[in-house]
Amino acid sequence: MNYISTRGGGQAVSAAGAIKAGIAPDGGLYVPDTTVNIEPAVVEAMKNENYCSRAAYILPYYLTGYSGGEIADCVRGAYSPQSFDHPEVAPLVRLAEGTYVLELWHGPTSAFKDMALQILPRLLPLAVEKTGEKAEIVILVATSGDTGKAALEGFKDVPGTKIMVFFPDQGVSEVQRLQMITQEGGNVAVSAVKGNFDDAQSGVKVIFTDELLNKRIKEKGFKFSSANSINWGRLAPQIIYYFSAYLDLQRQGWASGGEPVNFVVPTGNFGNILAGFYARQAGLPIKRLICASNQNNVLTDFVKTGVYDRNRRFYRTLSPSMDILISSNLERLLFELSDKNPALVRGWMGDLKEKGSYSVGSGLLEKIQSLFWSGCASDRETMDTIKKTFDQKGYLADTHTAVGINVYNKYREATGDGTPTVILSTASPYKFNGSVARALLGEEAVAGKSEFELLEILSRASGTQIPRNLKDLDKKPVLHGKVVEREAMADAVEEFLGMRD
Ligand SMILES: *Cc1c(COP(=O)(O)O)cnc(C)c1O
Repeated sequence: MNYISTRGGGQAVSAAGAIKAGIAPDGGLYVPDTTVNIEPAVVEAMKNENYCSRAAYILPYYLTGYSGGEIADCVRGAYSPQSFDHPEVAPLVRLAEGTYVLELWHGPTSAFKDMALQILPRLLPLAVEKTGEKAEIVILVATSGDTGKAALEGFKDVPGTKIMVFFPDQGVSEVQRLQMITQEGGNVAVSAVKGNFDDAQSGVKVIFTDELLNKRIKEKGFKFSSANSINWGRLAPQIIYYFSAYLDLQRQGWASGGEPVNFVVPTGNFGNILAGFYARQAGLPIKRLICASNQNNVLTDFVKTGVYDRNRRFYRTLSPSMDILISSNLERLLFELSDKNPALVRGWMGDLKEKGSYSVGSGLLEKIQSLFWSGCASDRETMDTIKKTFDQKGYLADTHTAVGINVYNKYREATGDGTPTVILSTASPYKFNGSVARALLGEEAVAGKSEFELLEILSRASGTQIPRNLKDLDKKPVLHGKVVEREAMADAVEEFLGMRD
């Protein structure tokens, strides 16, 4: 299997080539050129296997050119007990009859990004080797908060790589900020950018496609790559947990073999939910993918109307990792559902760039609606959902997961669909402890408390444990204090690479 650009330019590349490059040279995203089909009997055979074995079964379908042994090594290293604090890696928890939560945050940074970013730094050096690349890989990341830390943890001190992370100076939680600016490692740099996530993301995209800069760093022996969710090396590992959750439903006797399942996905850049789409395409019996947004509900409207319109107010919400108006990975869905028509994709992406909006037409909208349902939750609804879910079900959800739970309740009400449903839980409640403690205990109980006092308060109130990686964050030295204008991001990169003297 090879990978081609959603915009039709350039040549097909191997899986290793796609992972090394991150983004296609024409600005498109790499997608598989053939459809994967995993037979039901093969899926069934994984039922009693652990997460690592399931991963080692599924990934080779997408990473042709990697040997079985290489993939097994990557998987074992990525999902080891040193990194994940739960033996099942991605455990499935019963919330109520027919409703389950898939916890994707047991990794080293307490958000679901670890599921992919613990393995990408193992796949990438192999990709460099396989493609005969001699340059040192420079990973550039724009983060809405969670990707940055997860990528830094994954890539720190990985030989042959450097990593630079940009986060919006106004857009991340205190815990997220501290996680990043205290990052250790000999090959890392972190900088705040003035603006929001879309500013940081488009700044990084500009750097990736700046031909002159790419040429200059090449002369110095460097090459850019991306650890953002546009990199296929992040998408592929996310397909695994859809299969894994489905198998765990059966193993627990919560669903029977072959029975369709819904997934609810708190969505920002559309990477997580797109992995669900690819799982379904590969044969997993998914009935509906339910796209849950916060007040930045550009995707909710898109799934309902077929019009993607980013010309709207940007809100900073209590679920900041979903504060996004340009969902990059949607481009891959458009490509797949338009019968792989790059001319159409180019047209829509051109409209998005020039007018800030595009419309896909009724035929494609029908296809989208046969697979997806969408809804959104306000901050108030998110807070109410955290409180209710804890009081009534004894389950402590973070703000992003609560958006998912809230939207699922709306889905049930609107459709009456009683299909077994898995809600993806994308962050530990401790990562957004301020909001979660406020939802649970009220404003007075948290007023004037530091984030770190709140960790303790939340732990006592809920009877749950603080993840080890968040505990002593306030005692670590700040190593990265830089703040740059969006226009100065390329300069910051050059400085990091020692090209300014
Ligand atoms: C990144 C993130 C999301 C959004 O995931 P996408 O793949 O960008 O849609 C949701 N919740 C949390 C906690 C995240 O870190």
